[in-house]
Amino acid sequence: MYTIADISEIVAPQRSIIVAHESIIQNLIYDTRKIMNAETGLFFALVNRRDGHDFIMDAYRKGVRNFVLQNDLQQELVLTDANILWVPDTFLALQAIAAFQRKKFKSPVLGITGSNGKTIVKEWLFQLLSPEYKIYRSPKSYNSQLGVALSLWELNEQYNFAIIEAGISEVGEMARLEKMIKPTHGVLTNIGVAHREGFQSKEEKIDEKLKLFTDAEVLVYPQKYLEHVYMPSQIYKFAWGDEESCQLEVYSLKKEDNQSTLVSLCFSRQIFTVKIPFVDQASIENAISCIGVMITFGYDVKVIAERIATLQPMEMRLELKKGKQNSSIIDDSYSNDLVALQIALDFLKQQKQHLRKILILSDIPGVQVKDEKTFGKLKRLISESGLTELIFIGPVLGQLVSQFTLPITNYADTKSFLEDLKHINYSDATILIKGARDYHFEQISKRLVAKSHDTTLEINLNALEHNLNVYRGLLPPGVKLMAMVKAFSYGSGSFEIANLLQFNHVDYLTVAFTDEGVDLRNGGITLPIVVMSPDENAFDAIVQHRLEPEIYSFRILNSFIRYLKQHDLKGFPVHIKVDTGMHRLGFMPEEIEALLAVLKNQEVIRVQSVFSHLASAGNVVDDKFTGNQIQLLDEFTAQLKQELGYSFIRHIAATSGIALWPSAYFDMVRLGIGLYGIDLEREDLPVKEVSVLKTNVTQIKQLSATETIGYNRAGVIHRPSRIATIKIGYADGYDRRFGNGVGKMSINGQIVATVGNICMDMCMLDVTDIEVNEEDEVIVYPDIKEAALAIGTIPYELLVNISQRVKRVYFYE
Ligand SMILES: *Cc1c(COP(=O)(O)O)cnc(C)c1O
Repeated sequence: MYTIADISEIVAPQRSIIVAHESIIQNLIYDTRKIMNAETGLFFALVNRRDGHDFIMDAYRKGVRNFVLQNDLQQELVLTDANILWVPDTFLALQAIAAFQRKKFKSPVLGITGSNGKTIVKEWLFQLLSPEYKIYRSPKSYNSQLGVALSLWELNEQYNFAIIEAGISEVGEMARLEKMIKPTHGVLTNIGVAHREGFQSKEEKIDEKLKLFTDAEVLVYPQKYLEHVYMPSQIYKFAWGDEESCQLEVYSLKKEDNQSTLVSLCFSRQIFTVKIPFVDQASIENAISCIGVMITFGYDVKVIAERIATLQPMEMRLELKKGKQNSSIIDDSYSNDLVALQIALDFLKQQKQHLRKILILSDIPGVQVKDEKTFGKLKRLISESGLTELIFIGPVLGQLVSQFTLPITNYADTKSFLEDLKHINYSDATILIKGARDYHFEQISKRLVAKSHDTTLEINLNALEHNLNVYRGLLPPGVKLMAMVKAFSYGSGSFEIANLLQFNHVDYLTVAFTDEGVDLRNGGITLPIVVMSPDENAFDAIVQHRLEPEIYSFRILNSFIRYLKQHDLKGFPVHIKVDTGMHRLGFMPEEIEALLAVLKNQEVIRVQSVFSHLASAGNVVDDKFTGNQIQLLDEFTAQLKQELGYSFIRHIAATSGIALWPSAYFDMVRLGIGLYGIDLEREDLPVKEVSVLKTNVTQIKQLSATETIGYNRAGVIHRPSRIATIKIGYADGYDRRFGNGVGKMSINGQIVATVGNICMDMCMLDVTDIEVNEEDEVIVYPDIKEAALAIGTIPYELLVNISQRVKRVYFYE
């Protein structure tokens, strides 16, 4: 436990005001939207894309009295009873506290890094080593500069072993993580494709990752990635792989059935066999990494084999799915501890689509009724989360029912809940399912989630948030951001996406049609929403749902004015579109006088913004044209403003404009495709893929060279071939032009081509040259830009064509 005086000693502030030296600090706050236990919190005004100093008052109002700042207080802020430490860099101060906490911990700390598999290896090691050690592990995939610092803060002497994940995306980051984590032991899981992670080359990436192990005693790693790589000499290099020089040599891998793989290994001349209960390559590699760690910790091979055989697949992500009875299900069966619960509740709070919010919670492993501190925390978490109903499952929680004020139903176990489920009404609710592994809450989730077929579009909400921040990072302060969520957010969802954008404070949302806007309002979205193609029949809905129409012609302008007058409305916000060269919708610049004549002569509408659209911002050959469009908008809006006598927002740049035309930012930009992870103009922007279309292999056939595949016998094979049928066809939005080898998909990381014509609900792949089993996962667009090019279209079209029958699954890590 720290007092503010202790913290002051650690961060060595240049200046401080300490009014209460004995103030206890128990939790670190960096986001005022997530404040719990304000009185013992320490707020760090971090300066990144948003300036934490802008939220000091918000934190203060919520009860925070301890602050670490790097800038002076604004004059109007008066925090008389607060402790304030001023440091040169608040982020470094936060990390210094984490490093201090780490240093007090005298037991082994295992650091894990790599391109993939970090979280699963961490979780598996937790399972495998728990019988002997009391293990602390970083929650979820908290592996960033901030995530690691927050993870280490929770480390304490209750534990005698820690597993901490480290993730990086650019050069220089690992040294900072290493300084905090100081791992005594290390695991490198693997090294993926370089360009996906923001490194120049594979070598640069490996170098950077290895920095985590600068002072480690042992490193477990796959030999194949690190041949000829220099490593610090003090380190015991525990390589695994199929070469004789490896400490742990992999003799053979044999698929036993469709469920497990027998691996023969040799360590120190001792040959042993382990049954890994998985068949996919990634799981096998991750399991071998775990075996390596167990060996370096002195485990006997028999114990290793016994425990590895019991490994379970893990859903580490928190998923949002459509439930039965018009509910939304947040499925988080990953683990049940308070940190994980808090993360899930934060996500629940973002969901505005239903007023009912139900938590289904199991007992927390290892926590007894007498554990008052934990339950005190639990009570606070629940009372601050906006829940309306609780369902407790398990005997320990059962004894605490009377301590909660919300309606609670209690069940002894999962089975009795499931038996009762048909009597439970959960309609129009958002339901968070949070259970410890032993409670098998996946059975609950299965019963609540609406059934649909296997093809899914997975939407990574973290990536969306990340991309938003990438573009925000390009904008000077004060420039607003409008997020385009038309066409079902480019295929990826409605309120699910809008909730996240609202949580992240974008300034506007824009849809194409009134219906889309109404859906968002019904989903609880309160941000201003612009409708680009309003029509007269929709004026009622527009006014009723406070949507803001785009006005692009005199016809729509006059009829909207007439409508507003009839309904006695005044000052209704509208957005005037000017056609500066796109020649789609909008007033022509020369119509400005006529437009002014109408606008000045009424008070029912108010011009909220005036905007235009760049026709060719991404093409250098059209730079002059683009420059001219920008100038036209500038002149048009200057005149309009002068004659109207008030100002309004001006905007013209969409994604390509944001990427390439700072002079086009005006007062706001309109971010579309880039938000969804596709930037066609700038390779250097580290945007992340948001949606992944997945299906799986339904059947595999071995066919002789003379056979043909599919309709019209179009699939000719020329050689004995293995053909996989998968469950996606043109009715799902997989374009028929992808047939006969044009479409490329990926199975277990290997690229394969279509064969024959695409059918309505299915298509076939030539898998002769790769390893594949029935039910294996298939990534439909391993590279969506390339796929679009192959059939002469653009990624936009592929995204929005993914049909509504394809189930959307949202996840948040
Ligand atoms: C769709 C659209 C955008 C967004 O375009 P992106 O290229 O996806 O960023 C911006 N403005 C208008 C008027 C649009 O119709």
